[in-house]
Amino acid sequence: MTDWSKLRDACGAAGHVPALLDRFEADASGVWSELMDHLCPQLDTVFSASFAALPRLADLALSCGGEDRRWVLLAAGAIMACAPSGDDVFEVFSAPIAELHRLTDQCLREAEDAENYVSLLQSLLSFEGVEIWDRCLEGLQTGEYEVDCPHCGVDMFIVIDEADCFSATDDYALREVEKTPLRPSTPEELEGLAKRLHDRALADGQQLVAGGLPYLFGRAACPDCETVFSVADRVSAGQMY
Ligand SMILES: [Zn+2]
Repeated sequence: MTDWSKLRDACGAAGHVPALLDRFEADASGVWSELMDHLCPQLDTVFSASFAALPRLADLALSCGGEDRRWVLLAAGAIMACAPSGDDVFEVFSAPIAELHRLTDQCLREAEDAENYVSLLQSLLSFEGVEIWDRCLEGLQTGEYEVDCPHCGVDMFIVIDEADCFSATDDYALREVEKTPLRPSTPEELEGLAKRLHDRALADGQQLVAGGLPYLFGRAACPDCETVFSVADRVSAGQMY
């Protein structure tokens, strides 16, 4: 049995976490934010109680369906996105993580829109221990990334939108800006994780996501100095701190 009083969450001793998980079970979407405030605040910090909650979250994900299951998987995914690749938790909690992965894999095939799909895809990667992309696919959802030029350092937007894909140093949302077209990879150029994600999105019928990935894993030119660079590398570089 887990001795929750010996564990900690964002607020201190974690004795109250089982009751919080009970409330999450009863109302997953309504209690999700509160659960994250305790177990994964800002979606970037975890505590001993966060990982200890994984077996219960796996049970919940199995027993509930539809929307509720998605909220449970996103909670567990947010927690695992904070575990460094190769961390002990992958071994200690291998059984619940495998179950969460299996259920996420199943949910992905049923996801209705691109937004839900991208969130679940990040969860899937977090259960596999994939770094960076377990939290950085979100730009495919929001339609933009902010990166800096590897040569001159200027900050720019990388816009990956159904209608238009470009880089720009000015805020394109506020005014007309000079747009430098992105240079997507061809499907044949995609390899490794990029190819796997692209193949998967196509197989799952997620055309929007599949259409954005060649841009994310393609190249862009700096609007100021014209240096051509890998978009994914600059997104990754922005996560190193
Ligand atoms: Zn530049």
